[in-house]
Amino acid sequence: MKWFARTRQEFLSFQSLKAGSIPVSRALKKAAAHHWFSSLLPRHCELCHGEIHPVDDTSQHYSNVSSNACSKPRSMFCQFCQSALQTPSNYRHCDQCDLPLHQKVDDSLVADIYCGGCLQSAPAYDRILCGHVFSHPVDTLINRFKHQNGHYLVKDLTRALIQRIQFEYFDYPQLILPVPIHWTKRLQRGYNQSDLLAQELSQQLGIPWQRLVRKAHRTSLQQGLKRKQRLRNLKHSFHSNASAKASLSKYDHVVLVDDVVTTGATAEELAKFLKTLGIRRVDVWAIARTPK
Ligand SMILES: [Zn+2]
Ligand SMILES: [Zn+2]
Repeated sequence: MKWFARTRQEFLSFQSLKAGSIPVSRALKKAAAHHWFSSLLPRHCELCHGEIHPVDDTSQHYSNVSSNACSKPRSMFCQFCQSALQTPSNYRHCDQCDLPLHQKVDDSLVADIYCGGCLQSAPAYDRILCGHVFSHPVDTLINRFKHQNGHYLVKDLTRALIQRIQFEYFDYPQLILPVPIHWTKRLQRGYNQSDLLAQELSQQLGIPWQRLVRKAHRTSLQQGLKRKQRLRNLKHSFHSNASAKASLSKYDHVVLVDDVVTTGATAEELAKFLKTLGIRRVDVWAIARTPK
């Protein structure tokens, strides 16, 4: 009924434009007509391409592109994909590297829990926190966000992470640092996805963000490499100039922001570098964590 009422209202407002009761340009009339006709057609989910039922449009997940003066923003995901983006993992995670463990969440388990890797050798970073496990449909969305100009997905991708941050932190870090990429890669891609994440988190949480670390050399593709190989690849690959170092040394607690944490090698190398500047605590926030 809601859908019918909205469509009727849009039709009437289109009719009033047509009748010339409101002075509007020809282009605006055309846009209104296009919007009205397209609202009658079934829409499909951005992820699974399944049909979006009209009730899904009440969701908070909406596309920035569909915001229109004469309509409410509408969902770009079906109900299944929406709940996959909203539901937090029901497995426990390592309290340091956030690796999902084979143990279900149980309220009676309140003590800190660490994975074998972190118990064997404590990482240089203090804490990793991710919004999702890197699996479908989040992996598809991250890929689009990173490689296909999917800037518009930043809100949907950070929603679960922000909820977790708000739940887990008492005192927020003082500064957000996006994980840098080499300038040639940035030129090739047109943007650094971590900058977009840093900007969004900064806005939502009220923490400043700055680009104060650079990547000194372009590393070979990290995908498919083991942690040890990745660490060897990344050795001494991050640096800052003198004024950035001076700014960084004023902070006590900072957070690095990245799209995906795979082996934690990048987080490890960056945390080591930042701690040499006197920063006491370095955390890492990411959209998703790759399971083992
Ligand atoms: Zn879907
Ligand atoms: Zn761990």
